[in-house]
Amino acid sequence: MDYSEMLPVYEGHMMPAFGDEPPCSYGCKYCFAHTKGFCQDADQLKPGSPAEADRQIRVTLERLGKWVHCLVSSRFHELFARGEQEGLAHVRRLAGYGKSVSLLTKAALSARTVDELAELNNRMKEQGNRLAVEVSFVSGRDRPDLEVHAPTVQARIDAARLLAAKDVPVGACISPVLPEEIVSTDELCALVEETRDVMGAYTVSRGFAYTDEIDERMGLSMLPGVSDHTTHNHTNPLVEAPTFSHWHLYSDPRTHELKKHIRRGGRPAFSRSTLAVNHLIRTAGGTVPEYLWQVWQREAA
Ligand code: SF4
Repeated sequence: MDYSEMLPVYEGHMMPAFGDEPPCSYGCKYCFAHTKGFCQDADQLKPGSPAEADRQIRVTLERLGKWVHCLVSSRFHELFARGEQEGLAHVRRLAGYGKSVSLLTKAALSARTVDELAELNNRMKEQGNRLAVEVSFVSGRDRPDLEVHAPTVQARIDAARLLAAKDVPVGACISPVLPEEIVSTDELCALVEETRDVMGAYTVSRGFAYTDEIDERMGLSMLPGVSDHTTHNHTNPLVEAPTFSHWHLYSDPRTHELKKHIRRGGRPAFSRSTLAVNHLIRTAGGTVPEYLWQVWQREAA
């Protein structure tokens, strides 16, 4: 089997990129996507064209389809920063492969876009699939110093409420968890209190990858790090390839306590988005393979 033609699959999830991802205009300071867009070390992953990306996806599904139950929206840019119609087109394209879809967004989705996503989720149910949406946060209060052009926290929570009201499985993704002196525990707990009634699950990211440039921008000082799985060769070859030693990995020691805090409040919390999304899909009645559900149970215990 020629694996070079195939996309990585991690915990049943596959993240295709179509090669047309622009730099992200939301401009979050901790992220590489606004300055580099898709053109980073990940160029190795960049398909030559959407048609080539489509071929990679089909080859992977043909050979490993039984191990894939969810296609993940690109983590290289905010889908809806390009415009709501463009974001919707991307989500529909992913849904066209006959699997569940996981969407990560900071957007202030309009009621009309929420309706379109809800309609798509309803259509996906016919195949046992679901559209799971994770709304992304770095704090419970607006931090334009960190998320320069992103919608307000309240606008994101409002979008989550609209989605949940339309029966779309929705969770919160707290990522990255930055050091206490940048985002305080109080800000994180405030987010949990404010969103607990609407979120079906939380991801509290256990690691986040930075470049030297981002360290400097953020005033962080970190050693080079290698992610065991968190973002691309399972979802991030950026930090996995030893030649990319300018990638650093930060894991905040508070993530464990924060997950416990969320669970005490009655909501599941996971350190990986794949698990939170699997939970959202399964509890909404969608298909998640049994062996992955057992991984979920171990993590949730
Ligand atoms: S919205 Fe997402 S992709 Fe865009 S700059 Fe912020 S963290 Fe990066």
